[in-house]
Amino acid sequence: MKNHRKKKISFLANFVLDEICQNGLVDLHAIANYEELPVHYDHYESNTFDGMLVYYNSKFHIHINLDKGNTSNSRRGRFTLAHELGHYLIDEHRIALKYGFMSAHQSKNSLLNKDLIEQEADYFASCLLLPEKQFRLACAKKQFSIDLMINLSDQFHVSLMAAILRFIEIGSREFMIVASKRGIVQWFSKSTDFAKLKFRFNVGYSLPNDSISCKYACIVNRDFTTNIEEVDTDTWFYNSYYPLFVYEQCYYSQINGYLITLVWFS
Ligand SMILES: [Zn+2]
Repeated sequence: MKNHRKKKISFLANFVLDEICQNGLVDLHAIANYEELPVHYDHYESNTFDGMLVYYNSKFHIHINLDKGNTSNSRRGRFTLAHELGHYLIDEHRIALKYGFMSAHQSKNSLLNKDLIEQEADYFASCLLLPEKQFRLACAKKQFSIDLMINLSDQFHVSLMAAILRFIEIGSREFMIVASKRGIVQWFSKSTDFAKLKFRFNVGYSLPNDSISCKYACIVNRDFTTNIEEVDTDTWFYNSYYPLFVYEQCYYSQINGYLITLVWFS
């Protein structure tokens, strides 16, 4: 996503927050009510969409799929609703849908294979659910770790991944996240200011051999968080300039089956 789009979408989310919900947990239904936008929670089967914005009878409607765990108060449900509000509130999305330039598409909560429209709605959801000012305040002077991410996800009632992605965007330090399944890297991301180093891993291939993550890759029958450990920077990167050690910490959740690895310099 281009920077100017991010700025525009972030501005839009802040505008909505200022207008409708200024304190506490963001009230998404107040936003939908304000926009006179009906939200329908129903059973649409578990192999379909999370949410969908559709235009019929000269009116927009949001449909949310209960069969995928999207209740009005679940973290998943809140993200889905915020995402669909994004499709409605971002002019280009709403207009394209209204005039048939874009067909009603089914939004799915997933890390992978996102087109630009989905990325924009996700980014809007992130800006809305994790308001910049409150989020920065919540991060300030806190020691970086998975536990901080878990606390943030609890505080803002979002998934751990949503909290981590927001931290990459506006958090108080730079780091890298790698998501893997059974030892194979599925996806990664990093803060803009993270060291410009060539990786020793690739999406679709094994985690680095000497990493902490690699050691824990085959444990899949329980949730766990590892200690913060120092590893050679060379484990993860081709390095000749940056410090010789990086910190590494992992978290595994049986719910989505991802091993989440955070890597950062001291
Ligand atoms: Zn979508």
